[in-house]
Amino acid sequence: MEYKNRSNRQLRPDVCNSKIERRHPISPSVIVIGAGFAGIAAARALHDASFQVIVLESRDRTGGRVCTDYTFGFPVDMGASWLHGVCNENPLAPLIERLGLPLYRTCNDNSVMYDHDLERYALFDTDGNRVPQELVVKIGEVFEKILKATNEVRQECNEDISIQQAFSIVFERRPELKSEGLAHKVLQWYLCGMEGWFAADAETISLKCWDKEVLLPGGNGIMVLGYRPMINTLAKGLDIRLNHRVTEIFRHHNGVRVTTESGSTFVADAAIVTIPLGVLKSNTIKFEPRLPEWKEAAISDLGVGVENKIVMHFDKVFWPNVEFLGVVADTSYGCSSFLNLHKAINHPVLVYMPAGKLAQDIEKMSDEAAANFAFMQLQKILPGASPLIQYLLSRWGSDPNSLGSYSYDKVGKSHDSYEKLRIPIDNLFFAGEATSALYPGFVHGAYSTGLQAAENCRIRVLESYGEHDVFEPATGENTASVPLLISKM
Ligand SMILES: Cc1cc2nc3c(=O)[nH]c(=O)nc-3n(C[C@H](O)[C@H](O)[C@H](O)COP(=O)(O)OP(=O)(O)OC[C@H]3O[C@@H](n4cnc5c(N)ncnc54)[C@H](O)[C@@H]3O)c2cc1C
Repeated sequence: MEYKNRSNRQLRPDVCNSKIERRHPISPSVIVIGAGFAGIAAARALHDASFQVIVLESRDRTGGRVCTDYTFGFPVDMGASWLHGVCNENPLAPLIERLGLPLYRTCNDNSVMYDHDLERYALFDTDGNRVPQELVVKIGEVFEKILKATNEVRQECNEDISIQQAFSIVFERRPELKSEGLAHKVLQWYLCGMEGWFAADAETISLKCWDKEVLLPGGNGIMVLGYRPMINTLAKGLDIRLNHRVTEIFRHHNGVRVTTESGSTFVADAAIVTIPLGVLKSNTIKFEPRLPEWKEAAISDLGVGVENKIVMHFDKVFWPNVEFLGVVADTSYGCSSFLNLHKAINHPVLVYMPAGKLAQDIEKMSDEAAANFAFMQLQKILPGASPLIQYLLSRWGSDPNSLGSYSYDKVGKSHDSYEKLRIPIDNLFFAGEATSALYPGFVHGAYSTGLQAAENCRIRVLESYGEHDVFEPATGENTASVPLLISKM
């Protein structure tokens, strides 16, 4: 389907080689843009439904915001690492089960903001004093009460406001929920956790929509071997063109033409666009004709936040045997969290996870300065910390292939924007985490929108061929045979 400098008029690919295609001189063809979870899921499903599929990917690797790094000699995920919702309803469960991939549980219940199993945390102040566990429990309960009270504020407000503004209103009305000194710092740490969940600061998160996403049951489990085996399995046998950055997408009533940075041109019956929201916002891809106003508005209305990982490898474990270490501070910006990966993968590794403005500020630093910054946060609470032997860090906010970590609901904007971003335009279909109204920001959201786009695309293209039944449905799902393997040390 690749043509260099091809004329605009010829929109049909002329390659056909499958059994079914012999009955049809031309077989249905699709270009999938982006080889992350959404794109690979869509391509897999259409390939299995006997479509000709080409995947165009700007990076030199597949996976997108799923990126398992092996530099340390063992897998470490620099993007997604948790399966949120360890349950059979999770669209990824059949694949995880089929591959027998182990999970490590870090959160038992379905609470996002407040994990009731506080034995999992060790919090410290910036002088290295451990925060008494009773205080952590007490303030966790206060935090829950504040969130409940913001719900009342939400019901009264016609206009949307930010989570930060809602907290201020709650404190005015119910001063007993305000805390001071160490208790205030612990509260800031909880707020920091909420900001990390959305990769955005409380002043930008919508009160009306922050809890509109659907949380699957079963708690959260880390993919012990990383997400990479899943991507590799889904991508097997697909025609994926790496280092192909798409710059222009031209659509026509019976086809699409996609041009890359190097000038290569690809044509097909339809395209599935899985480009990250941050990249769509940057206007580096020209849509011809221009996308309708409502689609452009959805792209502009959704927020994209930044969360990064600074992964620190030590020669030995010198920290307490808990899931998370935390530093409490006067503001959520000053708080920190470290995931103790040792519990899941049995290597002495801590992962520092800044989000929002802090993550953006750290991205402005050199690699060395950023790693030092993370290490200094750790030294505040564990002055005897061993020196770092290796580190890895992500820059999802400035990486031109992502320009952000994941989407969130901005103040004053409608949650419907996710759905609007998903709606196809002619033979252009859209998928990716930011097109999932149910599971935005999740790998399973990206995956299920990829499958949905593939199915919608399959139906439309076959209708245009006057065929409905000759090709298999593009579900791409396999039945599960082994239960999810989750452990807890
Ligand atoms: C630090 C971090 C932690 C996260 N943690 C979790 C977690 O624990 N659990 C979870 O469920 N989710 C998590 N997420 C979110 C999850 O990674 C994403 O929701 C999901 O991977 C998005 O998949 P996607 O296919 O929509 O987009 P992507 O994976 O971003 O795929 C889009 C692809 O398009 C490519 N592309 C971009 N521009 C172009 C172009 N012009 N031409 C061609 N190709 C292009 C990109 O290179 C990329 O490969 C995390 C994300 C980050 C960044």
